[in-house]
Amino acid sequence: MSKKVTIQPEDALLIVDVQNDFCPGGALPLDEGDEVVPVINQWIKRARKCGISVVASRDWHPGEHISFKDQGGLWPAHCVQDTEGARFHSKLQLPEDAIIVTKGVRFDQDQYSAFDQTGLGGFLKKMGIKRLLVTGLALDICVRASVLDARRADFEVVLITDATRAEDAGKIPETIEEMQLAGAEVINVEKLLYDDTHRGAAESAESAENDAAVCLKAPEFAEHYRLLDHDHPCADGRNGDPY
Ligand SMILES: [Zn+2]
Repeated sequence: MSKKVTIQPEDALLIVDVQNDFCPGGALPLDEGDEVVPVINQWIKRARKCGISVVASRDWHPGEHISFKDQGGLWPAHCVQDTEGARFHSKLQLPEDAIIVTKGVRFDQDQYSAFDQTGLGGFLKKMGIKRLLVTGLALDICVRASVLDARRADFEVVLITDATRAEDAGKIPETIEEMQLAGAEVINVEKLLYDDTHRGAAESAESAENDAAVCLKAPEFAEHYRLLDHDHPCADGRNGDPY
């Protein structure tokens, strides 16, 4: 059974590095990396409906970044500033007011975490954010680092596992366990590990819609409520359309 999450006014949706280079055809592609996109789009819709902030991080490296193999690093050149590979996936439906966090711009070090020297933690606290719903790429690298940093900064964390993919699928169980030990709540893990439905993107988005139903209990927090579709059922029995 998938757990359900109730979006609260003090939540924000964090989307880590859903960029072309981490998707099939990119410079550092993850298997099925692009299949997170329809699932994340559903979460963006829910976030908009509930009026919570959407934060998207991106790897944004200078051309001769220290993390690249040519410079003695671990990775092929990827997400080079202003290239097609560094762009967010074209089907990712980021809202216009999404908060963009740029990382990996330093010549002398890499930054896996969206919180690493970006000021994001302090910024979110100022906004009153207490909990982060975390999605994106790659589960065992930048998502992992971001989740652990978020916990260190005392944010509550819900990892939406079916909205992630790993660089090394063999590391999924230990990564999930590490996050849980750090106090992160993990939902929909069975869709990534055991469930064939994640192999079809459309199917995955649909099952995420059904299984991870999000309830908006406080419509007064939803600035965008009237503007968006109202067809998503709430766990408390309302149909989401009071108008
Ligand atoms: Zn990078």
